[in-house]
Amino acid sequence: MIPFNKQNLFGNELEYIKEAYAANKVSGDGKFTKWCNDFIESKFETKKALLTTSGTHALEMAMLLIDLKEGDEVILPSYTFVSTANAIILRGAVPVFVDIRKDTLNIDESLIEAAVTDRTKAIFPVHYAGVSCEMDEISRIAKKHDLFVIEDAAQGVNAKYRNSYLGTLGDIGCYSFHETKNYSMGEGGAILINNERFIDRAEIIREKGTNRSKFFRGEIDKYTWVDVGSSFLPSEINAAVLKAQFENLDVIQNRRNEIYRRYNEGLKDLERSGSIALPNVPENCTSNAHMFYVITKDLEERTSLIKYLRNTGVYSVFHYVPLHMSEYYHKNFVKLNLPLTETLSSQLIRLPMFYSLENEAVDHIIESVINFYTNN
Ligand SMILES: *Cc1c(COP(=O)(O)O)cnc(C)c1O
Repeated sequence: MIPFNKQNLFGNELEYIKEAYAANKVSGDGKFTKWCNDFIESKFETKKALLTTSGTHALEMAMLLIDLKEGDEVILPSYTFVSTANAIILRGAVPVFVDIRKDTLNIDESLIEAAVTDRTKAIFPVHYAGVSCEMDEISRIAKKHDLFVIEDAAQGVNAKYRNSYLGTLGDIGCYSFHETKNYSMGEGGAILINNERFIDRAEIIREKGTNRSKFFRGEIDKYTWVDVGSSFLPSEINAAVLKAQFENLDVIQNRRNEIYRRYNEGLKDLERSGSIALPNVPENCTSNAHMFYVITKDLEERTSLIKYLRNTGVYSVFHYVPLHMSEYYHKNFVKLNLPLTETLSSQLIRLPMFYSLENEAVDHIIESVINFYTNN
């Protein structure tokens, strides 16, 4: 069977873990965490980067930083991972879902302004599949209505909008290094602080509400409880793994690009004949090839294709159940209709995409998809 995803070691992961033990420093904020923070700051160009225990926790930290409160509203797509909405709900605020664009499955920027009220506090663009939302327009709306922009760039590490890396365009950006993402530390993430006013407080919130980071830098002579907070810092064991992955950033990116192009080439005749639609990358965006998906005709066709692929030894999967159609949303909020979100989410299939996926396997997957459509 060809799995949907697979973990790869790139050389130094295990060495670095041993090094952390040899140095007798495996809890957070040692030299591996610092290396990764510095790497993110210089490579992606942000004022402050801090590793977190997950992408989910980076989002939750962002909500604490903007002081999101009960009754506040945040605008986001319904076609996203639960963590994007939970971060809002956990502060007692209200997620306001907006429909997506057909070409990128990202939030439709032309629908955002109509969803702004005097309770709106922030916009949450989610860069689906590592392809950027239309950030110029989103920034314009945010500026006009005095809103924060928090990027859920969990899938967008090393992808760009114009000349900027995703995660560096909003006030705050959130990355994930979960094993399903391009660069993995098992579980983990990072918060990118692009708006200087949040830098000091981000360090405090991440260190259980204490000024311990300042203490370790020798800026103060004792540390104490100064604000709310939690434990958002990952262990050095995880950071050691991420360092080895970052050292291979281009190697990983180049291979993913090759796989993406191979799928695109191999399946484009099926798109031309109208059987399927393929991912679209707008001209001002550079994708990180996080995902390769196919849009089928409808739910029934998708179910048959997944089954057909399974029978030829290929694990393909669908993606999000839109959040406004979830059990939790129905119990707590009024019914919503988001036509494109509802249709596209039922038509999409994700094909295997990981570093060690061989060309032979990609060709087999392409052939299987083509056979499915020629035989039906
Ligand atoms: C993966 C992901 C998250 C959560 O990241 P974790 O590191 O798994 O907590 C949040 N949002 C989106 C869009 C994601 O794809």
